[in-house]
Amino acid sequence: MKHRLIPFILLLSLLAACGGPRRLQGPFEVWERTVITMSDSVMYVGVVTDFQDSLELRAACRDLSDEELRSDLYGMLASKMLATVRSPQQGGVGIAAPQVGILRRIAAIQRLDREGEPFVVYPNLRVLEHLGDTVRGPEGCLSIPGRRGIVPRSEGVIISWTDPQTLQTVTEEVHGFTAIIFQHETDHLDGILYTDRADTVFANPAWEAERAPYAAQGAYDKPRWRRGPEY
Ligand code: ZN
Repeated sequence: MKHRLIPFILLLSLLAACGGPRRLQGPFEVWERTVITMSDSVMYVGVVTDFQDSLELRAACRDLSDEELRSDLYGMLASKMLATVRSPQQGGVGIAAPQVGILRRIAAIQRLDREGEPFVVYPNLRVLEHLGDTVRGPEGCLSIPGRRGIVPRSEGVIISWTDPQTLQTVTEEVHGFTAIIFQHETDHLDGILYTDRADTVFANPAWEAERAPYAAQGAYDKPRWRRGPEY
């Protein structure tokens, strides 16, 4: 019986050789494309209490290539990350790509230091330098719901990112609470959570109460297609 399978095996090998590698050559990997295109405009935000999410939250993220930055998929991911962080059920001041299951160096950050306090998406974001004194303040995280912590941070930072239009590297000096947000979100891109740096972490019942009505509507439920075979 075995020899009859050989033509099929050869055919399958040929199909894999033609189709497999070519799919991976385009911008983003197959799983990343799935997450970007299948997600609702408000994406599922991973939490530390979910095993699979916790691994994603601890992973180091990769940069995006110029080809990826020019792609429609990047535009779709950026707009979905913005919609997610600004949604009433999340209501954050920043979000990083690993929180939505994409292990790339991208963060959406609210520029509280600019007029109108706009959200801006920063690809290939890094903190180049820490400036000024260490300050301590409260922080929360969309991936650690119901908790807050007191975290020491630098008062200012010099950041760099890739401008998605010109593809040039841009640097900027940022101070105050916006600099804290940049530090929190770039930590996410290196697999670091604020609880790693916090002096104290405590329960935040007010936040839990705020989220309760959305939780009752299933707003934080993990989509079935995001769940691995272990669930
Ligand atoms: Zn966070």
